[in-house]
Amino acid sequence: MKDKWGRTIDYLRLSLTDRCNLRCRYCMPEAVESVGHDAVLRYEEMLTICRAALALGIDRFKITGGEPLVRKGALSFMAALKALPGVRSVTLTTNGLLLEKALPELVRLGIDGINISLDTLDAGQYASLTGGGNLHTVIRALEAAAADGVNAKVNAVLLKETKDQLLPLADLARRLPVDVRFIELMPIGYGTSLPGLGADETLAVLKEAYPDLAATAERRGNGPASYYASAALKGRIGFIAANSHAFCRTCNRLRLTSTGFLKPCLCYDDGVDLRCLLRSGKTAEQVQRDAAQAMAAAIAEKPAQHCFAEHKGISEHKTMNQIGG
Ligand code: SAM
Ligand code: SF4
Repeated sequence: MKDKWGRTIDYLRLSLTDRCNLRCRYCMPEAVESVGHDAVLRYEEMLTICRAALALGIDRFKITGGEPLVRKGALSFMAALKALPGVRSVTLTTNGLLLEKALPELVRLGIDGINISLDTLDAGQYASLTGGGNLHTVIRALEAAAADGVNAKVNAVLLKETKDQLLPLADLARRLPVDVRFIELMPIGYGTSLPGLGADETLAVLKEAYPDLAATAERRGNGPASYYASAALKGRIGFIAANSHAFCRTCNRLRLTSTGFLKPCLCYDDGVDLRCLLRSGKTAEQVQRDAAQAMAAAIAEKPAQHCFAEHKGISEHKTMNQIGG
């Protein structure tokens, strides 16, 4: 379905949970209170929303969180979503800690891609940034995913304090057939509390090591990354430059929080409470029709752009683990 700015909306990010087994400093650094189990959508409710989304032409789904793999039944849910008629892709974003064990099942269900979040290759810095994460567990999972032929990507948030990690992170794309994508820190939640690094500055550093690094027109994911190739690299280098090169003109996404709140834009707290519809007591067919109607209305009102440059316009105060990144 197209929004009023002519953009085709075909991608939904589904947050399975706000809970996480890490405490990344820019996301949920403290022991924030989790939403109660009853407030979180049941998998069957999420599937109803996915069916409604499919009716509107939204056929690509990203499973996110919090950490999606900490929720019981996440793999069966992904398999059920994959099996819905019309689904083009189901991909997963994970911190990688529970990935190695889940990998055989993910391969079996035909996962279309796995993004692994990893901001540094320094084990001490990783533990400090994530509140105790074990770097080697994540690296092992990444290597296993690559060995299994999974379309794997590394997502690294660009922080001032990890500037010396740009080349070690890029080296993953030399060593393994994985894309390494650098993401500008967004001023959402705790993202406002740390100094980030710009994509242009990052590209300049990488070009010194890979002088032939050149932009490609390839589309390799669900959305806004721009990609660069070098003969020295098996994978690509990607940039998601939400602040310095806003990609709102081509934004194709919606977000659903684990409590069933549909968000048309990351920057604003506007949206639709789909959980009310799901629990209205109507028949399944009626609920699905109502949900599709409510989603279509939300798409129609999708803002033209975010306002990350003027912080006072940002009305979203949820943390990234509550939104789904
Ligand atoms: N736990 C999973 C993970 O870490 O991949 C999925 C959820 S996490 C919220 C999704 C993505 O959002 C991660 O790649 C994370 O690095 C990113 N993220 C969190 N806060 C961010 C911020 N303020 N700016 C940019 N990216 C952020
Ligand atoms: Fe957890 Fe992902 Fe947020 Fe880190 S970025 S705290 S792994 S949800």
